Amino acid sequence: MEKGLGVCVTINRSKVVIVGAGLVGSSTAFSLITQGVCDEVMIIDINKNKAHGEVMDLCHCVEYLNRNVKVTEGDYKDCEDADIVVITAGAPPKVGQTRLDTLELSAKIAKAIVEPIMSSGFRGHFIVVSNPVDVIAHYVYKLSGLPKNQVIGTGTAMDSARLKYFIGDLMHIDPRSVQAYTMGEHGDSQMCPWSLVTVGGKRFIDILEDNREFDEVNLDELVRRVTRVGFDILEVKGTTCYGIATTVSGIIKAILNDENKIIPVSTLLEGEFGEKDVFCGVPVILNRSGVQDIVEVHMTVEELEKFKKSIGVIRDYTNKIEI
Ligand code: NAD
Repeated sequence: MEKGLGVCVTINRSKVVIVGAGLVGSSTAFSLITQGVCDEVMIIDINKNKAHGEVMDLCHCVEYLNRNVKVTEGDYKDCEDADIVVITAGAPPKVGQTRLDTLELSAKIAKAIVEPIMSSGFRGHFIVVSNPVDVIAHYVYKLSGLPKNQVIGTGTAMDSARLKYFIGDLMHIDPRSVQAYTMGEHGDSQMCPWSLVTVGGKRFIDILEDNREFDEVNLDELVRRVTRVGFDILEVKGTTCYGIATTVSGIIKAILNDENKIIPVSTLLEGEFGEKDVFCGVPVILNRSGVQDIVEVHMTVEELEKFKKSIGVIRDYTNKIEI
């Protein structure tokens, strides 16, 4: 053997599998590829033609990107060496439906997906996007038997990005300079702990008090806008995809790059905020172990009450599926 060639170097390739090649799944793949987040993106869909078409189209991006991300189509057995499996299979709510109305279908699909993925030997992280996301993430956690830190629902991550955008837009400030999130259900009952929202280190409620131009701002209305805007988009274009795709990429980056980034996602509460056995949106520290820790923020009595009310909604629906 020639000198130098006998050294065995292990280079790990990062692989993300996306189940569901619909608008959310394909946009997520596009976001991951264009940002060069991982080495390989694999797409699986019950509609093999759809998966095949998306893969062919996405492969042709490579020439003009910074990185040669491999794009493949696959089957559940190929999840064995995946770091992350993203579940986007399901159907968006129809006009007039809530996300909770899609529970039965999403639960059925989740069951059909998770079992063969676990049989493949997969031991990575699940990121659940399908709605109602808090309930389905809980279901995936139970079905998979994986540790709780490895099953993550996108929760209120997208809603929080929307809230930051609305506050930034109102104040003519970059949304990334706004510290804000919503918590609880990714749905109508989510709430915002306004006492914790800051812009450039100043409490948002103080900013409103100090500036007469914001006299008309109604905090409940801002949260209402966050919960409704997904449906406004749905009404005009049938679904939302770019915001959620970028959100999922952000979560994946935090995990693969071991960032310790704080993002509000849906995770299992086990005593935090005096609640247990429920998945809901709370700020967490995300790194290569998944949910490293929950940030147990201090809310006002009124905020805590709203948060617990939202948890009650998730719990009612969680009890509707046999877990
Ligand atoms: P879509 O109808 O465009 O795509 C769904 C895809 O899932 C289809 O390609 C379909 O063939 C596939 N599929 C269905 N059953 C399957 C199975 N058993 N195995 C594999 N693939 C299967 O829907 P979409 O707009 O991409 O939305 C997908 C999900 O994402 C919905 O549940 C929607 O509510 C949810 N969503 C969540 C958020 C969030 O913030 N969590 C945001 C937007 C959408």
